[in-house]
Amino acid sequence: MADDPAGVISRGSLSIDHEAYLTVSITKLDTRRTLPAMDQILGWPLIRVLAEQHGQTLVKCLVNQQLDLLRKAQQPCEPVQFAANVEQHIHGYLSPSLRKVFNLTGTVLHTNLGRAPLPEEAIQAMCDVSRGASNLEFDLGKGKRGDRDSHVEQWLCRLTGAEAATVVNNNAAAVLLTLNTLAKGKEVLVSRGELVEIGGAFRVPDIMRRAQAKLHEVGTTNRTHRRDYDEAISQRTGLLMTIHTSNYVIQGFTASVAEHELAESAHAHGLPYAVDLGSGSLIDMRQWGLPYEPTPMDSLRDGADLVTFSGDKLLGGPQAGIIVGKRELIEKLKKNPLKRALRCDKVTLAALEAVLRLYASPETLSQRLPALRWLSRPHLDITAQVERLLPAMRQWAGDRATVSSVAVMGQIGSGSLPIERLPSEAIAFTPAGPARSANRQLRELQRALLNMPVPVVGRIHDSRLLLDLRCLDEEQQLIDQLARDKST
Ligand SMILES: *Cc1c(COP(=O)(O)O)cnc(C)c1O
Repeated sequence: MADDPAGVISRGSLSIDHEAYLTVSITKLDTRRTLPAMDQILGWPLIRVLAEQHGQTLVKCLVNQQLDLLRKAQQPCEPVQFAANVEQHIHGYLSPSLRKVFNLTGTVLHTNLGRAPLPEEAIQAMCDVSRGASNLEFDLGKGKRGDRDSHVEQWLCRLTGAEAATVVNNNAAAVLLTLNTLAKGKEVLVSRGELVEIGGAFRVPDIMRRAQAKLHEVGTTNRTHRRDYDEAISQRTGLLMTIHTSNYVIQGFTASVAEHELAESAHAHGLPYAVDLGSGSLIDMRQWGLPYEPTPMDSLRDGADLVTFSGDKLLGGPQAGIIVGKRELIEKLKKNPLKRALRCDKVTLAALEAVLRLYASPETLSQRLPALRWLSRPHLDITAQVERLLPAMRQWAGDRATVSSVAVMGQIGSGSLPIERLPSEAIAFTPAGPARSANRQLRELQRALLNMPVPVVGRIHDSRLLLDLRCLDEEQQLIDQLARDKST
């Protein structure tokens, strides 16, 4: 009892009466051999306060956890420490797992970091439909049941010129639904050069099998001709398909068949022709100095009957798989029971509609759509931001690393435009110590950045830690958390 009990026990706003502390101390003496019972622990003032804040259920659960730990370690229960552990674990237990980070990787549409950031209009629309009832499947004009796709279908038709459209959970689902609806039990002709694997186990041959379609490869890896398709067409054929090789390019002695030729071949045999674009931009990206990416409009003009693309790649919207094309085929897709299993929820539809609405005014798109704003951000703008952040970064790094600005190449990401690179500017941390410990120091710096309240995700390249500022909007928030960080 030498140390002041109140001094030890007063934690934050919590104060404790002396009598209660005596109970705690006696318990402590008694439990050198056996651990206290749950009821007893729940009576401790510190634990009682936690139970008032978070409820008995959670507190009991974490008390049990702590007791288990002590039992395993064969350690006595020290009440003050015990309560502190329980409190700490409650915070860990309740802190969200999925949360915001700073994407300073230089990859704008980073699949692991959630791809496209959404515009305010979309966020507002998501909140509005989430809070209560909506006309999700209710036609307000007719006063009866409606179609959930209708909210985005008219926009997709307006923007792409398609007859009809539908949406599902993501583009992988769009491809699955297309294959299963048009080619179940039949052959799908695809060029050998287009059998792509997209990150996260989307592989064309696997999707075909799951869709109960049979992949019929035509041509060779580097060269496929129209006659390869024509010779492969038979009674068994259900569909001709082009798959955009979004994350690789085949260079050198190559040949592929133009979409309008494939459409002709398919239609000559009364077969449908589908194009999986992957990214599929709705506008010509060259006006912002970005490379050209094929659009659904191109494919439809060339005679594709269905075109599939992602909602959260270059389109800059929520995760979704968009299918546009011939009304008759879209109707078939909608009748497939798989559509019901793959459909989008109201939150996604609300966000997608809001994003598509922005495309009605292409003049303001590069300012209002965050993904496009980042992609088209002027180099000088990024360089100026790097200069503004250097002092805070140097202060934060202290003597752990030298900090400088460096020209880097970023990426669009999500397999869009695989070889094109985005010239950008980064803050580079070069470890201060000897070369042999550089790797460990880099890892430590990376760890310190990831441990921040809003984790900072950069990349390690050429023995330096790089923070590409292209996608940094909340500059002051980053500066503030660097200033508050205690990792040095
Ligand atoms: C990205 C991509 C897909 C998968 O799209 P998700 O929206 O990620 O499901 C399918 N095909 C191609 C060609 C792609 O680039």
